[in-house]
This record gives sequence, structure tokens and C-alpha cells, in this order.
Amino acid sequence: MFELPFEIDHVLNKLNESGYEAYLVGGAVRDMIMGKPAHDYDVATSATPDETKAVFDGYRVVETGIRHGTVTVIVGEYPVEITSFRRESTYSDGRHPDIVTFSRRLEDDLGRRDLTVNAVAYSPKTGCVDPFGGIADIEKRIIRCVGDPNERFAEDHLRLLRAMRFSSVLDFVIDEDTRAAIHENRAYITTVSNERVFSELCRLVCGVNAKSILHEYSDVIFLLIPELAVQKGCEREYGDNGRDLYEHTVNCLSYTEPLLHLRLAALLHDTVKPSGADETDVCRIRDTIAGNVLRRLRCSAALTSSVCRLIRYNDVPVDHNDMVGLKRLASKVGIKTMKDVMKLKRADVLAEDPRHYYRLNDLNAAYDALCEIEENGVALNVRDLAIGGDDIKALGVRPGPVIGRLLHAALDGVISGEVNNEKSPLLAYVSEKLSENA
Ligand code: ATP
Ligand code: MG
Repeated sequence: MFELPFEIDHVLNKLNESGYEAYLVGGAVRDMIMGKPAHDYDVATSATPDETKAVFDGYRVVETGIRHGTVTVIVGEYPVEITSFRRESTYSDGRHPDIVTFSRRLEDDLGRRDLTVNAVAYSPKTGCVDPFGGIADIEKRIIRCVGDPNERFAEDHLRLLRAMRFSSVLDFVIDEDTRAAIHENRAYITTVSNERVFSELCRLVCGVNAKSILHEYSDVIFLLIPELAVQKGCEREYGDNGRDLYEHTVNCLSYTEPLLHLRLAALLHDTVKPSGADETDVCRIRDTIAGNVLRRLRCSAALTSSVCRLIRYNDVPVDHNDMVGLKRLASKVGIKTMKDVMKLKRADVLAEDPRHYYRLNDLNAAYDALCEIEENGVALNVRDLAIGGDDIKALGVRPGPVIGRLLHAALDGVISGEVNNEKSPLLAYVSEKLSENA
């Protein structure tokens, strides 16, 4: 028996009272069986969407995906997604079912689901309904397709990446037949829209098991990101234990926290063509290739630029003894970003031969120095200065870009320790700059 939120219980009861079957399905059931708190609760019912709407007459109902049989009923403040049982249809394009057919049978609905671990239904009345052995697979921590994996991947090509994603996130092993079918059908993945691919890929790279999935299914990953394929077999310049550049990439990723921007930066941090590795402006090339990959995958502009910035500054040397240099970098890039850059640098070193681990001490010291800068509230931005544009105007400077330049000069003076961040010394400093330039 699982404890359900009141609203879900209410929805299941109302549908039952009207003579329909209703169950909780998908991720929530899987999570509850694993003893984890469930997040989004999906309800499946034998009622058609119109029948569901009739049952919830008087409630606010949003027709979120009515074509696919989903309506959202608002219970109190709580939105509950209710989807009518569906039967698997043919998929001519490998992406969308040709027609959506509703069914009165729960088994049809569970049979169209991707993985056994996602194909268990639960209701307080019936307990778990598990026609495909999902509970045993959850207990044995196995990812397995419902039915014949080759057929299931042929229907909906995204499923092969979903199997990899769930294995990575749940730390489950992919069953042998499913594994073989992923490799065999890997070319399918190139037909899936970049948005759908990217959304699964993001979750995959943040999973606890990302390292082994990226390693074992590199053939799939290389189809999605050919820029990584050239790393395979490319020897590391530092000659570390015969590992190639792709292995270094995957190791680096596994040493970062499971935060999306860090993981993506690790994944793409060495995406320079091996043949071009001695180009003069290597970091710019990396940055550009990573940007191209992310834009192609329809990553948001904000995430793309934050990932690219980490990659760019990963190649910029930092000296933990040079506090002024660190403050300048933090001022230019942002303190949070600089701390993330240090995390990436650390992972990059950890993914190298242990002979290089001596570099970790300096990186840790630089990270600590950045934390100190952050904690001390050091001025890193003109906004943090004890003077503003109006104070400079009061010195007789006419409005215009020169005010911004003077504020930046004042900031640089504070960062370099030439002047304290206090009003009168700053005004004196600015006046001096003014007379120098007069
Ligand atoms: P989580 O939300 O934790 O990622 P989930 O299992 O709820 O996990 P969703 O992507 O939200 O995953 O999908 C909900 C359910 O819908 C799945 O559990 C699965 O039963 C079914 N499903 C989703 N996508 C597919 C698909 N491409 N093919 C078959 N079934 C699918
Ligand atoms: Mg879900």
C-alpha cells in the first residue's frame, strides 16, 4: 500500500465511482516501489477524454493534450494529468503514432509503454498491476523494453535514448536484448528531433551512471555529437595509461557535480579536432565547436553561453598566489562562474594520469581564494562601488560614456588595491584620473 496525495486519491475515487478504472502509472509508481518520493503523478483511466471531462464537471479542466487523450483536472490548486488508456498504434515516421486509439483495457495501455519499470500501474483498490514483470526488474535494477526491443525502437526511435537515460539516472543495468537492440538500431536516433534528443541527453549526462552509459553506448552518442567521435582512439597528449581523449572526456564528466552546465561543459571541453590540437587559439576553437553542438541541439542561448564560458576559461591559467589576478578574472567572468571553472579544471586534472594530480593543490588553493573573495564581499562590479554615476557627475563630468569609463577605472583601482572602496578616497582617485586625462 502506498500513501497517495489526497488529490490523486480523490481523482481515482471519482473515476471509480463513475464506473471507470483508474490507476497511477509511470514514474510515480516506479519511484514508490523503489521507496523514493514520487514527483509527477500520472493517472491513466478507462474513461475517454470526454467521459473524464464529464466526471469532473464543475472542476477546472485544461485540455492539455486532448488529441493524445490527456486532460488536466485542477483539484484545489493541484493539477492532475489524466490520460485515457491507449493502445499502441503503428508509427510510420518513428516519432508519432499514426493514430491515437483509446482502449478500455489497462493491459493495452501498459503494453504501449517503453520500459517494464515504467509499465506498472497502481491503485489503492487493486494494488500493483504488473503484466510485464516491472517490479522484478525494479528489484533487480534492470532496464528492459516492454516486448521486443527491436520493434519498440522501430516504433518510437527516442526510446533507445530513453533506455540509456533511465539506466544512467536510476543506476540500472540495461538488459542484454535491449542493449543489443540499442546498438543495432542506433541509426534511428538521427531521425529524432534535436529538442527531444537534448532533453533526454541532459538527464542522461546528469545521471549517477552517466560514465558507464557514455562509455558503453559511445556509438549512439557519436551519432548525436559527431564532434566527439573524433576523440575516439585519439591518444592523450600526456600519454596517460593509454586512455584516449573520449575516455578522458567521460572521466572528466564523472568527476563533476551532476549539474547540467558543468556536465555539458565537461562533455564538450575538449571538442577540438585532434588534427587541429596544435592550433594557436585552441580554446577559442573548443568554445566555438561546443557552441555549435549546443545550438544544433537546440540548447537555450543562456545555457549555451554559460557552458561555453566555462570551456573558454578552463583553458585560462589561474595563479592562486595572485589575488589581484583572481579578482580581475572574477570581476570579468563572475565569481560563481569562476568557481565553476575551478570545479571543471579540477575534474579535468582528476581525469588525467595521477602523475598530474600535484596540480590539484594549486587548483584547490585558487578555489579557496575565490571563496574568500566572495565571502569578503570584495567589489567586483561597478555596482559594488561606494560611488555611483551621480557622484562623478557632481565632480563636474558631463553625462556620457566617460562616466562609465571612470567607474571602471575606480573599480580597477579597488581591485588592484590602489584605493579603498570608500566614498572620499574613491572620489579623490577619480579626480586624479580626471586631471591625468585633462
Ligand atoms: P520521470 O518523470 O521521473 O523522468 P517518467 O517515467 O515519469 O519518469 P516521463 O517521460 O514523464 O517519464 O513519461 C511518463 C511515462 O510515459 C513513462 O513512465 C512511460 O510509461 C511513458 N512514456 C513516456 N515516453 C514514452 C515513449 N517514448 N514510449 C513509450 N512510453 C513512454
Ligand atoms: Mg514523468
